[in-house]
Amino acid sequence: MSDAPTHDADEFEPVDVFETTEMDLRPGADDCYKCSTCDTSCPVAEVDDEFPGPKFQGPEQWRLKRTEGHEIDDSITSCSNCMRCDDACPSSVPLSQMHNTARGEYVENQRFGREALSALADGNLREALDIVREGQDGLVERLRNRILANYHTSAWLASFMPSVANFVMNFGPARWAMAKTMGVTSEREFPEFADQTFREWWAARGGAQVSNPDKRIAYFHGCYSNFNTPEVGKAMVRVYEEFGYEVLVPPQKCSGTPMFANGMLGDARRHAETNVKNLAAAIENGAEIVASCTSCSMALGQEYPELFDLDGIEDVAAHTYEGVEYLRLHEDLEGALDETSVDGSEFAYHAPCHARNQGLDTQAVELFSDLDGVAIEDVGDSCSGISGTYGWKEEKYDYSMEIGEEMFEHMEHAAGETGMTECPTCAMQMEHGTGYEIRHPLELLEEALVTGS
Ligand code: SF4
Ligand code: SF4
Repeated sequence: MSDAPTHDADEFEPVDVFETTEMDLRPGADDCYKCSTCDTSCPVAEVDDEFPGPKFQGPEQWRLKRTEGHEIDDSITSCSNCMRCDDACPSSVPLSQMHNTARGEYVENQRFGREALSALADGNLREALDIVREGQDGLVERLRNRILANYHTSAWLASFMPSVANFVMNFGPARWAMAKTMGVTSEREFPEFADQTFREWWAARGGAQVSNPDKRIAYFHGCYSNFNTPEVGKAMVRVYEEFGYEVLVPPQKCSGTPMFANGMLGDARRHAETNVKNLAAAIENGAEIVASCTSCSMALGQEYPELFDLDGIEDVAAHTYEGVEYLRLHEDLEGALDETSVDGSEFAYHAPCHARNQGLDTQAVELFSDLDGVAIEDVGDSCSGISGTYGWKEEKYDYSMEIGEEMFEHMEHAAGETGMTECPTCAMQMEHGTGYEIRHPLELLEEALVTGS
């Protein structure tokens, strides 16, 4: 018989080798077995030779973070946050959460003022000057990224004088100057601001037209439906009211999507605090949260609880749906469409990457294929290439168009000359690459079930 000591499994207590925190992602990094599937799914890595890809940005950087003094690689700013790598990973490594966190840390470390002051306090004037000089190198780019990430603020300002803003934003010399001084591409047309925002329309009509405590939704319209395409928000309200829902429109800020993509987690958190507080109150009031933009539903449903620790955030995530998704789950939408028709329309449908992540990439085609008067064709599973603010950056514009090429070609081969998608920036890219008019599935639902019936 062996003299070796015996162990009772029940008495075993694991030892924490590494200190962990609530948001610690290192265990996720350990789930990576380096298959490189994420790298082959990354649209940016496919066109940008300098970009090392999601495996490096995610698990490898997190392993390196165990090394004292490791700094985040600046290539993290080239990740467009399309989140396709999340979907591709067979080992459920939380890649986009790692990228968002790393990007936030990278941007935070760019605040050179504190380091310069600390060098000065140590009596090291030369080091302080070097820090300031290096920090200034990327200052304009950081300012540009902040402006792009805070679209909510620019759009709010533009909404006071939309016609002036529309003229100035697309005035040739102004666009040339923005490209030269700020690095915002002049190749794209700025989207028009609406004369009347969705919220102004909502207030003017006196709010909800249906009262129903048993069927209540809180609409998260996001920035774009409010300031640029209020027709999408109106369609959402009218379709839900047609099914007998009481629609609430709580006060809200940007979902944070463009801020995550630019590493501005402090700004995103401030917006999330307002959104979570107001949406959690709506849930208390018996409502489910419904968004018309798939990036907004992605932010509320996945990125919020991954990145922030706020009261009610898990509740908001669990109660968030995309607009068509919720109706398909709770109403006989197919049955309602069976009994109606629209005037002949042919659509080239593109599923946004963030819809794909939520398992919503086939729903528009499934829903509208049997609708009388409609032909709809899926234009494939490629990324549109714009990824929110990515395609607006001067240095990324060519990559953005190269990524979008496959989608443009498929759109042009499809029968229709009208595009359809749920994401407002994918819609910009589709229109930019093909010249097609682009519609939201909710607008077609409105035509079929409300205005055309
Ligand atoms: S797909 Fe997942 S497991 Fe494979 S290399 Fe990427 S992170 Fe690692
Ligand atoms: S989020 Fe998109 S761009 Fe970023 S690493 Fe993943 S696949 Fe590539």
